[in-house]
Amino acid sequence: DLPPIDGDFYNLDLKLTEEQRELQLKVRNFMEDEVRPLVNDHWNRAKFPFEIVEKFAKLNITGVPYEGYGCPNLSFLMEGIIAQEIARVDVSISTFFGVHSGLAMGSIYLCGSEEQKQEWLPKMQKLEKIGAFGLTEPNVGSGVAGGMETTCKFDGENWVINGQKKWIGNATFADVIIIWARDEDTNQVKGFLVRKGNPGFKAEKMEDKMALRIVQNALITLTDCKVPESDRLQNANSFKDTAKVLRMTRAGVAWQAVGCARGAYESALKYTKKREQFGRPIASYQLIQNHLVEMLSNLTAMQTMVFRLSELQDQDILKDEHASLAKVFCSMRTRDVVSRAREVLGGNGILLEYDVARFVADAEAIYSYEGTKEINSLIVGRAITGYSAFVN
Ligand code: FAD
Repeated sequence: DLPPIDGDFYNLDLKLTEEQRELQLKVRNFMEDEVRPLVNDHWNRAKFPFEIVEKFAKLNITGVPYEGYGCPNLSFLMEGIIAQEIARVDVSISTFFGVHSGLAMGSIYLCGSEEQKQEWLPKMQKLEKIGAFGLTEPNVGSGVAGGMETTCKFDGENWVINGQKKWIGNATFADVIIIWARDEDTNQVKGFLVRKGNPGFKAEKMEDKMALRIVQNALITLTDCKVPESDRLQNANSFKDTAKVLRMTRAGVAWQAVGCARGAYESALKYTKKREQFGRPIASYQLIQNHLVEMLSNLTAMQTMVFRLSELQDQDILKDEHASLAKVFCSMRTRDVVSRAREVLGGNGILLEYDVARFVADAEAIYSYEGTKEINSLIVGRAITGYSAFVN
């Protein structure tokens, strides 16, 4: 017997093992029962629901693909499925989770020394300590590899960091913020574990965002911020190491886009079956069905793409261009899906209480972060033509 048709039209769920399916349902139920009831209100007030963090920890889904340090050591596919389940209800919560579990824990997992991993990863896995990842700056986003303005210099005793970071998710409350800075002496990019309360570190919440309002993004100012050598990520020696982290997490962002599209599609489908105009459910009209089918085709294409992407990652043959292609395609198609969902809801499509408005706004953030459409396209373009169109 096939499960009921919702946003998994090709029954990709049937490709999962019993164990994977169980975890997927556990996350789905948690998101429906504990998170859905509070997201619209928190989104509206731009507040983070700290009350869910402890409950979230009990799901044991942090650091899913990592080995050791209390992490579940499951597949990248499982990590992607979890990202889809979380984003299907709320993209802000999945971003909070992606920044913590992917970018911050991933930096320590890939670039930290054994001591650094032992100190941070078990506590971060339990969400007792929260992480953030500071790469983007006010003056450099896409071109941060060559244009990073934040500097570090060893003064004989400590590393001294100066500069600013912009857009940094979780940074207003994180216990550890991974800060990337250019070494004034070698010109190489280095990574640092900056601890909460460091007197040279200031994080100001960015207000008035029109997307991902639950995520607490910060403008960080580092003023003679002193960090001991023991808190420099010991295996981050150049931007190539930063890029390793991004390669690992970009696939997760493509899955988030899928979750966003799925949430919007499922809301729209439900709505069109209930809403009656001219004496019949609007779902019975051909033009509405066309929108629903366009949404479903996009969603199904995205799902099959990210499923394969995660298989590549699990086989350890994932390349930058693979993740970039999925990020470009999924973030573009998601924009299309959410705008059609908004359309079939009529006026209610712009009201928060119907969920779709939130997905429409949040799709815009997915579109830009972890590499814009242009930058990810250029990564794929370089791979298929052999010519790099980047200028640095
Ligand atoms: P820019 O780099 O200024 O780009 C502007 C436009 O120019 C884009 O359309 C871009 O594609 C285009 N462009 C740039 N260069 C080229 C080129 N060579 N050819 C063609 N077009 C080009 N960063 C972090 O470090 N940590 C975080 O936690 C984090 N969270 C974020 C959360 C949100 C909600 C958002 C919106 C961003 C976040 N970011 C974070 C930053 C994000 O990664 C950047 O916004 C992104 O990399 C793009 O940089 P930019 O916004 O400075 O745009």
